[in-house]
Amino acid sequence: MLLVTGVLAVTMDPLRRLLKDAAIAIKGEKIINIGKAAELEARFPNAERLDGRGMLALPGFIDTHVHSDQALLRSFADETTWRPFLFDYIFPLLRYRTTKDALVSLQLCILEMLKAGTTCFVDTMIHSRYEFDVLASAVAEMGLRGVLAKYVMPQAAFENNKIDTRTFHSEDESFASAERAIEHWNHVNNGRAQVWLGPLVPRDPETCTPSFYMRVAHVAAKTKTGAVLHLGAEQDDLKFFDESFHMRPVEFAWAYGLVGQNILLIGGCWLSNDEVQILVRTKTNVVHSPSANMKMASGVAPVAKLRGAGVNVTLGTDAGANNNAHDMIREMKAACLLQSISTMDPSALAAEDALACIQGLMKSNCTLTTKSHRRRVHLIFAC
Ligand SMILES: [Zn+2]
Repeated sequence: MLLVTGVLAVTMDPLRRLLKDAAIAIKGEKIINIGKAAELEARFPNAERLDGRGMLALPGFIDTHVHSDQALLRSFADETTWRPFLFDYIFPLLRYRTTKDALVSLQLCILEMLKAGTTCFVDTMIHSRYEFDVLASAVAEMGLRGVLAKYVMPQAAFENNKIDTRTFHSEDESFASAERAIEHWNHVNNGRAQVWLGPLVPRDPETCTPSFYMRVAHVAAKTKTGAVLHLGAEQDDLKFFDESFHMRPVEFAWAYGLVGQNILLIGGCWLSNDEVQILVRTKTNVVHSPSANMKMASGVAPVAKLRGAGVNVTLGTDAGANNNAHDMIREMKAACLLQSISTMDPSALAAEDALACIQGLMKSNCTLTTKSHRRRVHLIFAC
């Protein structure tokens, strides 16, 4: 039993309680109690003590947008927009990556995340060129939780030789390997390394086949897992969806089943009001990556508006080269400041709201959320 004493505990419980002079009781791998230090010290007199005075204790952060295989590429492609970024810099390098490279990159990424307080992450596309089990084992061994989205690709991409076929599977092979990984990893180590589906980004007319995205939705439902999809993050994507399908990006996702509580849509910078309503009705989650959106000049997601409408918005750092960091404290601060300047309202996304985003929590309706409460939460961003 370990007792961390004297901390200011930000509980993020339904009442959003902030506990001064608090203690946290930890038994094995579990937090078993949080309360006033004096009370818990009396209850657990023989516990090992760790003095946390002057420290803030927060729940672990959840980073819902990570590309761990790019952690070694930070600052490699600064000051470029998405096309040259991907096609001239990132893809040519990743093409020659081995499992060993990916493992080192993942381990570095995890160390950085742990140092910054992240305890759960979503790796949005574990590529077929890497031995999946090697990477999943590393997540399970390094002590945090990971959702590893196994890359799946449409047959059209394979047959059109759009991408280097030496490193890609056919559609059937990519789904078969994903289902094997789901079957194994979602049932061991208490699900510490969960497997989802990470489909090819729909933005190319030669590879974007609706039947493929319907299959993603079907397999996710059948295997009771989730899918994480990059969708409409760039203004160029709107033109693609309009010309190819006469739809908006979220309308496309809705038409082919990729909406719902088990779906994470990354992007959201160019949403129409109708798309927001689809997200509300289907309870689809939106991943906001403010630093990457600013760095790549992608746009500004209307996070305050989405949350106000009832959409669950989470935060993610994106890739090493999109952001140059995997630090959720910085990401929360960026999210708040970006909403402030884009809405001209400094309270559009309060610090407490940003904290709720990285817990995957909806906006609190708690009546105890007072102004003084919010001031105290702002301590987090004072560093
Ligand atoms: Zn991404």
